[in-house]
Amino acid sequence: MNTKRFIPVAAPTLNGNERAYVLDCLDSTWISSNGKYVEQFERAFAEFCGVKHAAACCNGTVALHLALMALGVGPKDEVIVPTLTFVATANAVTYCGARPVFVDSEPETWNIDPEQIEAKITTRTKGIIVVHLYGHPVDMDPVMSIARRHNLFVIEDAAEAHGAEYKGRKVGSIGDIATFSFYGNKIITTGEGGMVVTNDDALASKVRQLKGQGMDPNKRYWFPIVGYNYRMTNVAAAIGLAQLERAEWHIERRREVAKWYYQALKDNPSLTLPVEREWAKNVYWMFTVVLNDNVRKSRDHIMQELAAEGIETRPVFYPLHTLPPYNRLSRGQRFPVASHLGARGINLPTWAGLKKADIEFICKVLKEFVRGSG
Ligand SMILES: *Cc1c(COP(=O)(O)O)cnc(C)c1O
Repeated sequence: MNTKRFIPVAAPTLNGNERAYVLDCLDSTWISSNGKYVEQFERAFAEFCGVKHAAACCNGTVALHLALMALGVGPKDEVIVPTLTFVATANAVTYCGARPVFVDSEPETWNIDPEQIEAKITTRTKGIIVVHLYGHPVDMDPVMSIARRHNLFVIEDAAEAHGAEYKGRKVGSIGDIATFSFYGNKIITTGEGGMVVTNDDALASKVRQLKGQGMDPNKRYWFPIVGYNYRMTNVAAAIGLAQLERAEWHIERRREVAKWYYQALKDNPSLTLPVEREWAKNVYWMFTVVLNDNVRKSRDHIMQELAAEGIETRPVFYPLHTLPPYNRLSRGQRFPVASHLGARGINLPTWAGLKKADIEFICKVLKEFVRGSG
């Protein structure tokens, strides 16, 4: 029994220059937030996204906070966010003293439903944060035209979607500003880390000032505003640069893992699988299945059965409108699509080092458990 394998839901793959670059930081003693790797990583990441500016910071949550502050979000403002996302998307709005206003998901991509955004706009609304959930891009054209019509900003929370494409354009290059996370389970990692990207010169310099204690860019040690220490270390950037050098490999590996999942699970009457819309390149941060109504077992029960077989999974995000800090904000509103996904969705193991045999094993076990529930 104890020879059973354990398949984690996520794991980083550090098979490029990570080790060499980190040792270079140690040998040179450039281990803090000055050093060549921060600049190199920023430049390479801007190029990767097809944008002018990239500013590294210490995590993806902070990247969102920086973007919101640079756009001037403050108390009494409202920001539209999807209810189905990681909690950080809404928390960053809360840090600014503003209020997140939730929108339900679109049933196919599970992303914010553009058709439901306009109904949530009020005189206090300042902008929209879209989230490219689990690696599938948001349908950006309708979002951008709503934003232009109502004079709202658009932030792309691309924490889960490095390298994903919308109509041939990289995510992060479409909205006014975008944020990425490099947490250990993301598509590209620095351990902990984040990035803010934009084509807007003024927003970029604001972000740079805010992340470095508010220091005047033209007068060292003069602080005209209250800023933050949200910097990334050179050691983290060294890992990030090495990861980014192999970005296409990381993305292709995930797309291959997804292909194996599709091969094994397609046409299963108990499961709804992710999509890749014709205008999208999905980078499959988490290959996610949703249990259909004909599965009588609970989602959590099936997750426990998988865990007993050594297969680690995660529940799809609990929609934010159900969480204690946020459930009063949307009282009386309904979010049927996100509620269904949140109750019935399972993130399956998805990472670059998985082998075809791992996926076949996971799918064999999963199919037995969903069938056994008749
Ligand atoms: C991971 C994630 C974040 C936060 O990133 P951290 O680096 O963990 O702070 C924000 N938004 C989404 C959608 C995420 O998945």
